[in-house]
Parts: sequence; C-alpha cells; structure tokens
Amino acid sequence: MQKWEQIQGVYVHTPFCLQKCLYCDFASYAGFDMETMTKYVDAVCIEIARRSNILPVAEQATLYFGGGTPSLLPEKLLAKLVEALQKNGCWRQPAEVTIEVNPGTADLAKLRFFRELGFDRISFGVQSLNDGELRAVGRIHTAREALQAVEMAEMAGFTRISADLIYGLPEQTLQTLGTSLRALVNIGLQHLSVYGLTVEEKTPLAELVDKGKLQLPDEDTQLAMYELVQEYLAAQGLHRYEISNYAAAGQESRHNLVYWQYLPYLSFGSAACSFDGDRRFTSTAAVMDYIDGINIGKTTGAIEELTRETQLAEYLFMGLRTAAGIDLMETRQRFDCDVMLEFGIELEKFIKENLLILDDRHGRMRLTEQGMRFSNEIFEIFVK
Ligand code: SF4
Repeated sequence: MQKWEQIQGVYVHTPFCLQKCLYCDFASYAGFDMETMTKYVDAVCIEIARRSNILPVAEQATLYFGGGTPSLLPEKLLAKLVEALQKNGCWRQPAEVTIEVNPGTADLAKLRFFRELGFDRISFGVQSLNDGELRAVGRIHTAREALQAVEMAEMAGFTRISADLIYGLPEQTLQTLGTSLRALVNIGLQHLSVYGLTVEEKTPLAELVDKGKLQLPDEDTQLAMYELVQEYLAAQGLHRYEISNYAAAGQESRHNLVYWQYLPYLSFGSAACSFDGDRRFTSTAAVMDYIDGINIGKTTGAIEELTRETQLAEYLFMGLRTAAGIDLMETRQRFDCDVMLEFGIELEKFIKENLLILDDRHGRMRLTEQGMRFSNEIFEIFVK
C-alpha cells in the first residue's frame, strides 16, 4: 500500500482557551465550564469510535493534540481521549505524539503526566520573550513563565521541545526580537516555528491597530526582522526545513510533514479538518453544534470533493513549502503529472531568476532561500 493510501497523521482539536489572544482568529473560545469540556471530550471519543476506520491508519501515524489549548484539559479528560485513540487503532506505534502547551497552563506535575500518557513532543506557544509584547497581544503568560515551562518540560523527560515565535508584534524592535531568539536558542530548543504577525479581520488587534492604539513595526523593520530570523537561526544550526519552521537535524516535526507532503490525515473535534486523498472534511467550528450533532449520530461539517487539478495544485504548493521540495517521480505516480510538461513555461521564469531549482540528479524540485520569500507568487501558477 502506498503511503498516500493510509492515514499518516491523527489530530485532536481542543477549542478551549483561558483567554482569547488579541490577534487570534482560530476556532478557540474562552469561558467554557468544566461541564461543557466534559461533554466535548465525550463527543470527541464517540467521533473517534465512529470515524476511525475511514482509511487504514499507518502503524507509525503521528498524533497531534492542538487547539486552542489542549494543556487546559483536566488530566482525566486528556487520558480519556488517549484511551479512545488507542482503543480504536489510531494510536498504534506512533512516530511522534505532540501536545501544544500554553506556558501559562504548565506545571511540572502536569508535564510529567503528559509524558506518562505517551506524549513525546511539546510545542509551546511562547510567541515572544518580552513581557511588554506579550501583554500587548493578550498572552496569559510572562517571558519568565515561558522559560520555566521549557525547563520543566525537560525535567519531565521531554527531549523534543518546540516553541512558536511571532515577529512583527506591536512595539517589537529588531533588538527585542533578537533577544527572544537568542534566549530560546540558548536554553537549547532545537525546533522553532516563526511566523510574521498577521492582523486578521474582525480581531481585537485589527480594531486597535485601525484606531491607532497599537503600533506595528513598519514594513522595512518587518523585512529586517524576517532577515534576522533567517540569518540568526541558520548560524545557530537550526536549518529552515519549511517556510516558517527551523530545526536541528532530526528534530523536524513529522506530523507537520504529513500536511506538507499532502498525505492523508484524520482529525477529530470541532473545526477539525480531515483529508483522505480525494476529499476534505471540515467539522463545524461551533462547539455546541458539534456536541449536539455527534450525540444524535451526525458529524456536522462540510465535505469538499477535490478535483485532480485541485489536488495537484495543493500537493505542489504544500510540497514546495519544504526545503526538500517535491519528488518528481512521486508526482508522476500520484497524479500522472510531469511537472515540467504541465507547468514548464511558467516555471522556467522562476528557475532563471534562481527562485526555483530543478534538481535532475535527485529528481526533485524545490524553492531556493530567495524563492521562499516569493513563494506566494510562485504558487499562483499552479492555481489555474
Ligand atoms: S492561546 Fe492560541 S488558540 Fe488560544 S487564543 Fe491564544 S493564540 Fe488563539
């Protein structure tokens, strides 16, 4: 069986947060009580039993608990989810089991419990190590708490720890960004996800920026920040293996590679998105609708049938997000497509400009470092 005919990654969504960050437009909500959390987890367990057989799950499929804030779930509820996954064949001998943790919800006992449950990788939402910047966007933790959380995760036995960082935050300067980057590297983190801040419509951040109550760094400073991230992390031996992700060799997130390699994945919970190779299913983001639907035997959400053209376009631009790029032989096998025959005229321009490399020797196509900066422009050619 080909790897794209089996589920390679399993995701569980927790839609609860202690407080909504000002920039966040994810499907996550603050203010839910314990009763709702319990009902939600019960519904997810029912969904796992009901939908776990849509495709065979690969022996080493990765697992990822994301959100929202999964580290907010009481231990009992988290254990229930793990048990449901194990009972229904979604948790076999996973290559990696990650949990997202908000540093403001971490303590040593809890992190030890995660390790005992079988999680072997933590992704901390650090975002910045400057208290003013953290406060400005409504994060619930301080820089010190974030650093302590990483230390506690090490004490709890985690050897694979990642942190998310944002550049372009209100009031952030090149110097404060440099300080955050240095501190994260100095405590030994071997995986970082670094994103430019996006001001999403209808978020409190958008309103504050519109009204001039928060100042974002200007465009030149944001560009200099982008360059600082690339140069500094490369010099520290964290290679850029995806447009926004950096890791020491062997520390790459296997779960995220499932998405970038356009392999099937199965997701559970509200707002969770599954992909079986031909169809995408996105569950409703409304928590109560999700729970009610599951309890009357329905999984509420939207199914999208993907045409061969859409699948090919998505496969190409997801794959080109990674430093390894796409495997031309696999593209032929999966989509009966010779990339140079189908897109060669448009691609030549980017190859000449040294934004894209056609590596005949290894049968791969990939973006150059410069190409990653203009990736959106290049990806447009695949969307006909
Ligand atoms: S903790 Fe994460 S999911 Fe929750 S509001 Fe903040 S950014 Fe959004």
